[in-house]
Amino acid sequence: MTADSRTQLLADLDRRVAATAPDMVSWRHHLHAHPELSNREEKTASFVAESLRSMGVDDVRTGIAGHGVVGVLRGGQAGDGVVVLRADMDALPVPDESGVDFASHAVDDTYPGGPFPVSHACGHDCHTAMLLGAMRVLCEHADRIPGTVVSVFQPAEEGAPINEVGGAKAMLEAGALKGLDPTMAFGMHVQPYPKGMVSILSGNQFAASCMVRITIIGEQVHGSTPWQGLDPMPAVGAILTGIGQIYRRNDAADALTVSIGHLDDVGRFNVIGRKVTMWGTIRSLTDTVMAQAQQQVRQLAEGSAAAMGCRAEVEFLQPVPAVTNTPEWVDSVSQSLTEVVGTDNVFEPAPTLGYDDVSEFVNAYGGVYVGLGVQDTHFVDGQVVPIEGGRGIVPNHHPAFYADDETLATGVRLHTHVAVDHLWSHI
Ligand SMILES: [Zn+2]
Ligand SMILES: [Zn+2]
Repeated sequence: MTADSRTQLLADLDRRVAATAPDMVSWRHHLHAHPELSNREEKTASFVAESLRSMGVDDVRTGIAGHGVVGVLRGGQAGDGVVVLRADMDALPVPDESGVDFASHAVDDTYPGGPFPVSHACGHDCHTAMLLGAMRVLCEHADRIPGTVVSVFQPAEEGAPINEVGGAKAMLEAGALKGLDPTMAFGMHVQPYPKGMVSILSGNQFAASCMVRITIIGEQVHGSTPWQGLDPMPAVGAILTGIGQIYRRNDAADALTVSIGHLDDVGRFNVIGRKVTMWGTIRSLTDTVMAQAQQQVRQLAEGSAAAMGCRAEVEFLQPVPAVTNTPEWVDSVSQSLTEVVGTDNVFEPAPTLGYDDVSEFVNAYGGVYVGLGVQDTHFVDGQVVPIEGGRGIVPNHHPAFYADDETLATGVRLHTHVAVDHLWSHI
């Protein structure tokens, strides 16, 4: 096949993306109104699997590592490329204050720690709808595709409940892509950048992450006689204060955050509880800083507990590697990105301490992960600022997070262009 037929195919795909956009927006609204928490994406996965089957995807695999779905489209032309397009499907325990008429009113009564209001405050409804949109138009042109397109709809990107496994690593371990030998992985995340702009950083664009669980164990006693027991609470205070010093023990040029976001305490006003559990997260841009910070958190917790006569158990759970876009992969996709949005609309963002376990796919098969701007913002002097009269800058995970429907077609085109261009390079 010639370069001309690549250009023609992309033009035909683009036309179909435009025509199919209203359907995709309605899928997105449906998914947004019916969000499900990590490892509970049952209805979302059914919707995805049924949609893929109705499009004529050859091989739809379901129930992978929970509710993971993989749809394999084998193109009708010869080619050795196997491109993985990935979307995550899970929502968050966050109320929906986006103000849209398709807002979620869902509550999960049974989730550990709940009940929780549930919403797509990270925009995974957009990711799922965009990948379905891409698969639909690619299926319509399957006879002209040289190679294989593998759509991966991943559960539990936001982290499974503590006693469950889930997410990208679990999908790979469950053999989600067995026998497919992918040659590239690609995905994107909606972000509060200007609508339709694409962010791609050569290097670590998203952080390494782990969950921290620190259990301080003392001895339960009446609140009136603390000297007769061992109060774990002062150690908690010392650890929270001490975390502020961890930054000063690491190179200030290396980004790092340590946050404790949740405490479980078994005491009450007149009972000094036997233990307190602290839950948090460590984020860093490199594995070296992550290892140092973990060692420092452990030392701080164990030392603070010992100083108060207590004992600390420190665990680092659900590790996620950083998302590394290598310069070679950035080079190889840059033309596809600029063909979709124009040179002026591709920019290099600052790295973020948000994580994304898409890194498991990118690390395994190569490829890149990019950001897609979906909000009423623009650049002024290199800063992203709100457009006057717009809906403002609302970060992911905020109850009022929003994503503009108009940008979804751009996301679909990113999938289709990157996929077709990669497969073309493997003919
Ligand atoms: Zn998120
Ligand atoms: Zn997300």
